[in-house]
Amino acid sequence: MIRFENVTKRYNGTAVIDDVSMVVESGAFVTLVGPSGAGKSTLLRMTNALVRCDGGRILFDDDDVAKVDPVALRRRFGYVIQSTGLFPHWTVARNVATVPKLLGWPRPRIAARVDELLAMVDLPPAEYRDRYPAELSGGQQQRVGVARALAADPHALLMDEPFGALDAVTRAALQDQVARIHKATGKTILLVTHDVDEAVKLGTRIAVMDGGRLVQYAPPAEVLAAPATPFVAALFGGDMASIRLLDVTRVADRAVAAEGLVPASAIAAEATLEAALARMLAEHVEALAVTGDGPPRVIRLADIVRGGR
Ligand code: ADP
Repeated sequence: MIRFENVTKRYNGTAVIDDVSMVVESGAFVTLVGPSGAGKSTLLRMTNALVRCDGGRILFDDDDVAKVDPVALRRRFGYVIQSTGLFPHWTVARNVATVPKLLGWPRPRIAARVDELLAMVDLPPAEYRDRYPAELSGGQQQRVGVARALAADPHALLMDEPFGALDAVTRAALQDQVARIHKATGKTILLVTHDVDEAVKLGTRIAVMDGGRLVQYAPPAEVLAAPATPFVAALFGGDMASIRLLDVTRVADRAVAAEGLVPASAIAAEATLEAALARMLAEHVEALAVTGDGPPRVIRLADIVRGGR
């Protein structure tokens, strides 16, 4: 768990982090979003003591990050940045093995861990372990960066605009992959982005920053449906927030008892409202049966529209 208590940072007398308090529960995927200069990277870098607090404190698994050895602290985090930071003259395997080597793991354990991680990020080890970063695409380099961050099984991952330099298709693929890794490992993740869609897609909670302040800290559906301030409403697209909400709301949340209505097509209860709407539009129908346990339920066009902002 990471606990921020009244955290403040000043540069030249100006607070760039202004009295931020929030608790990141173990296993959460928190996306920090806000305009450039809002303080997102600074807050992330304060978490692993690359930047020191001027006021307040940050507790990581109950340790005050200002009071523990910073090198040991940083090893408990995996850290991924936009420009990968891979060593160009080292092979992929050696790059991934950086921290396990520092920790003095035996060679066979390192080799096994490297292969396991490369497989996890969809880079077949036999094909990729002996390549150099320059022989990889930008997306593949970033996958190696993610594998390296996970190498020594850190307690949490800190990611600073990790997909910022990638094209849209590669970016979406890596987002899906990090979401899968989060599900599979249950690691706590803090990810900085200025991309609202990325924040909504990946976050179990979104921390919205503006001018050094935390203006809202809530699950995506809540940020979209009930933005705390006009700034948050505008950041999440004003009227378009209702459309984004379709992607984070499940059919199960809006389905109603079938009451004799028997639609020809069906959709899974776990599907998103966006998927349900797409099906209705494609099939020219206004209701779908909902598959799942319990009494028969349906989702109607009106149920999708209802409950928007
Ligand atoms: P974001 O990640 O949201 O774009 P940053 O955390 O990088 O924002 O920066 C927040 C503010 O702090 C900006 O105004 C930036 O110029 C300022 N800042 C960041 N690092 C330093 C530094 N080392 N010295 C002076 N000002 C800094």
